[in-house]
Amino acid sequence: MVLEASHYEILGLEANCDLLEVKKAYKDKLLSSHPDKSLNREQRQEIIGTGSKTSIEKIKQAYRVLSDAKSRANYDILLAESYKKHGFHNSGEGLDSYSLDEFKHDEDTAAFCMSCPRCLAPDSFEFTEDMLEENGLENPSGGFLIVVQCSACSLWLTVTFDIAEED
Ligand SMILES: [Zn+2]
Repeated sequence: MVLEASHYEILGLEANCDLLEVKKAYKDKLLSSHPDKSLNREQRQEIIGTGSKTSIEKIKQAYRVLSDAKSRANYDILLAESYKKHGFHNSGEGLDSYSLDEFKHDEDTAAFCMSCPRCLAPDSFEFTEDMLEENGLENPSGGFLIVVQCSACSLWLTVTFDIAEED
């Protein structure tokens, strides 16, 4: 199953954007996707009726959802659920947070692991340094974070870490 582009992706926005950014992105996208304004009404209608209809509809739909605080909050929940089903999580909000130092590090496999604080399954959290680099998100409070899932009970945690600067 392929994930459809999210409303944020359709508008080219970050998940933490504010309302002004939503409005601006909507305007820009609409302008760039809208048929030439110099065409007459019928010609425009024709173009809207064919190829570009979907994208304009999607842009409007995305804007309707994201410009309303309540519907956006609901959408964020749905989006998080759908990301979860695909094995990753879009943000670490609301999850328990651990520091990378709390994980065991295996020098041979370059993997970090930890037993689950909820179901206590041994080493059920496991991820590699590569995963940190590929999936690390900027942590609003400094450094980076990654969201990981227990392979036994599906608990999600965020792990905060810093990346050593290479000069
Ligand atoms: Zn667990």
